[in-house]
Amino acid sequence: MWTFKASGEIRAYFKSKSERIGLVPTMGALHYGHLSLVRKACAENDYVVVSVYINPTQFNHQIDFESYPSNLSSDMALLNPFSDKIIFYTPDHKDLYPGEIQSNSYDFGSITAHMEGLFRPSHFNGVATVIEALFRNIQPQKAYFGEKDFQQLQMIRNLSVKKQMAVSIVGCPTIREKDGLAMSSRNLLLSLEQRKAAPIIYATLQDLNKNYLKSDVSLMSRYFKEKVEKSCLKVEYFFVASIDDLIPTSKLELNKKYRFFVAVYAGKTRLVDTVELDRI
Ligand code: AMP
Repeated sequence: MWTFKASGEIRAYFKSKSERIGLVPTMGALHYGHLSLVRKACAENDYVVVSVYINPTQFNHQIDFESYPSNLSSDMALLNPFSDKIIFYTPDHKDLYPGEIQSNSYDFGSITAHMEGLFRPSHFNGVATVIEALFRNIQPQKAYFGEKDFQQLQMIRNLSVKKQMAVSIVGCPTIREKDGLAMSSRNLLLSLEQRKAAPIIYATLQDLNKNYLKSDVSLMSRYFKEKVEKSCLKVEYFFVASIDDLIPTSKLELNKKYRFFVAVYAGKTRLVDTVELDRI
């Protein structure tokens, strides 16, 4: 496995422009969710650049940024089975922010207006700034993102169209622990009690998908809050939003596709999840 800190070196390393290059951007503390993106990227490309960069501008609180887990040696160990294809890229700040470390300003309309965009102001500007820099520096043909961060995935699709970037965006399904908790680097920050409680998030979304409450969004919201907050967890938001424009709704329309979007606090650790609403 080759490791680089500068994207210029990566471009020089690629022998010819005809080689298929995939990109998997991450913030490290890799788990099997990340690995599912890497596996798909390796199947579809000659080289896969896995970037690990904890991007300061996408955090709303310094403490969240500072406590974000990081372990480059275990990240490399996890990637080892794919080592003949992987370029491990751990950029310095200056490789992604040639000037000051601050985000650009973007307008993604309704895609970033709600859910994470509402509760984490400036978060998506930070993400988009780094993803745009990565796309320009690496010039991949394909880039892989998880549906776990569905709003981010749609924002990046919009970014690549808006900026006319020749990269196709591949969405990958959410990988979960056996008990249903969506895999996340932040799960490492959970106490034993919080970790034990956390599977109720996905279990309740599944419940909602199965039972009659589905017709009424405010009932669903109340049900979710009641179930989840029976433990040590605290709901920040619960939304049902249409997949196309990501605008939350209180009334479900026929023939439209929706997703549940939730954010839940376990102490100071914030967990997000999203599941498609089953209309059958
Ligand atoms: P992160 O390191 O959390 O910024 O995530 C890097 C990429 O991995 C993003 O595209 C995430 O959506 C994706 N990802 C994170 N967790 C999962 C998961 N449990 N299943 C699938 N993809 C994931």
